[in-house]
Amino acid sequence: MNLILFGPPAAGKGTQAKRLVDTRGMIQLSTGDMLRAAIASGSELGQRVAGIMQRGELVSDEIVVELIESRLPEAEAAGGAIFDGFPRTLAQAQALDVMLQRRGSKIDKVIRLKVDDEALMHRVAGRFAESGRPDDNPDSFKVRLAAYNAQTAPLLPYYEDQDKLVEVDGMGTIEVVAAGVDRALDGR
Ligand code: ADP
Repeated sequence: MNLILFGPPAAGKGTQAKRLVDTRGMIQLSTGDMLRAAIASGSELGQRVAGIMQRGELVSDEIVVELIESRLPEAEAAGGAIFDGFPRTLAQAQALDVMLQRRGSKIDKVIRLKVDDEALMHRVAGRFAESGRPDDNPDSFKVRLAAYNAQTAPLLPYYEDQDKLVEVDGMGTIEVVAAGVDRALDGR
């Protein structure tokens, strides 16, 4: 099964993805994690994307599509993947569909975590104070939220038209949201 965890930055996609990895043995493909690993390794790609990410802007479709493509064989071997933070643009969504189709596969479900903007700002302020992730500073976060609203939220009708979209209230505790994700996955 291939699943997309969808939602604005700091909605809890990574947290819920990691839980599904633990409880269901699924594989998490997070483009954010892959890009941060590239930066940490000091690679040429990392150097290219560091400034873009720090400002809160999206890196190019080409880069993230290539990162995802390189991990699809591994995902396939595991019986599917949780896509976290990808796709973020219509071009990425279309590229993903083509890549999966070529492998005889598809996206099965898109789980949208719904969290209001005020709660997101609050969460990210706490996270910034704790971890100091550079793109969690208030200015970059505003850019990330704007990128979500302008470039990523328009994907919702794309998946709704394909009858793949399930909405989960993302405002509760991690456990309550996890229960909602489980219900969405198991069709209860
Ligand atoms: P969050 O979901 O909290 O915003 P991510 O770790 O998913 O965090 O993403 C962090 C940053 O990495 C984004 O703001 C963007 O710069 C870059 N990024 C991650 N995934 C993508 C993607 N699919 N397309 C373009 N940029 C991406």
